[in-house]
Amino acid sequence: MLLLALESSCDETAAAVVRDGREVLSNIISSQIDLHAVYGGVVPELASRRHLEVINPLVDEALQRAGITAGDLEGVAVTSGPGLTGALLVGVSFAKAFAYALNIPFIGVHHIEAHIQAIRLEQEVAYPFLGAAVSGGHTHLYRVDGIGSYRLLGRTIDDAAGEAFDKVAKMLGLGYPGGPLIDKLAVRYDSGEIKFPRPLLNRTNHDFSFSGLKTAVLSYIQGLPQPLSEQQVGQVASAFQQAAVDVLTAKTLRAAQREELERIVVAGGVACNSGLRQRFADLTAGSGIQVYFPKPLLCADNAAMIAVAADYYLSHGKRSGFDLNAVSSWPLEQVSL
Ligand code: ATP
Ligand code: MG
Ligand code: FE
Repeated sequence: MLLLALESSCDETAAAVVRDGREVLSNIISSQIDLHAVYGGVVPELASRRHLEVINPLVDEALQRAGITAGDLEGVAVTSGPGLTGALLVGVSFAKAFAYALNIPFIGVHHIEAHIQAIRLEQEVAYPFLGAAVSGGHTHLYRVDGIGSYRLLGRTIDDAAGEAFDKVAKMLGLGYPGGPLIDKLAVRYDSGEIKFPRPLLNRTNHDFSFSGLKTAVLSYIQGLPQPLSEQQVGQVASAFQQAAVDVLTAKTLRAAQREELERIVVAGGVACNSGLRQRFADLTAGSGIQVYFPKPLLCADNAAMIAVAADYYLSHGKRSGFDLNAVSSWPLEQVSL
């Protein structure tokens, strides 16, 4: 099917045209980083307004770049949750109106299912696999048996990994979003003598915690004479990333082993992290476990990923109705074909 896909769950407005859930004809992203940077985080009301301003021209451009017209489309896919309600509603309302005008089906997609299934735009990964969603709002491990089939194995009990990256970056005065900035510093600096805790590393369950790590970083920073030198900032960033990466990789691999899963798909914005990618590669070399990462553009929020599960659902006769609503909180286990 030839689908228009839309994403507006947080601070990126994105539109894509994808054929058969696989072939990306266009995939464009309008980021709101400039808008929220001064506040050090996403301001929901501003996010919704910006989505509203850009969605029309963005869709036009996605169609144009794909070399098609609206009349060629066979369906519309949209993120309907989880995320910021006002932001989601922009995409959901647009999708309904667009589909109504063209008399084609539309479907609401779970944002985290889209992150996990994004890998299919690049390669097949056989089921079952372990899906690790590490992003601004999630640090969740799932057993994935197919599109529409997820079982939660473990999750963060407080902050998400991306949230911790962003907050630590803010403490260090680095700017927003912090993940890529910490990543860059961790490439340039080592952690020196600094060693932060690895929360829940030795617990037998598959849950994560990042709030204590964040507090440990804050107390460490507050114990230093101000302002920090460039090297101190680099070392703190590096030590924090090492702690986060250690816990993420160790616990994900342990969960895969316990569940006897030989394939791991790591997805979401934090999956861009170079330290995380490297450590997974090091730890699994020669182990028989295969770790897959979508390319960075497909790890971060984008609309092409929304088309993957949507194409499968629509092709199997599933549709959303005009009563489709934005759902801010929506456990992935509840999705089904
Ligand atoms: P969710 O997907 O849970 O709804 P979200 O959509 O806001 O949340 P994403 O856009 O998937 O989250 O990911 C954004 C997060 O990824 C931010 O917290 C950002 O700091 C983090 N991130 C992006 N690049 C990197 C990187 N290289 N290293 C670490 N974190 C990163
Ligand atoms: Mg974002
Ligand atoms: Fe996301």
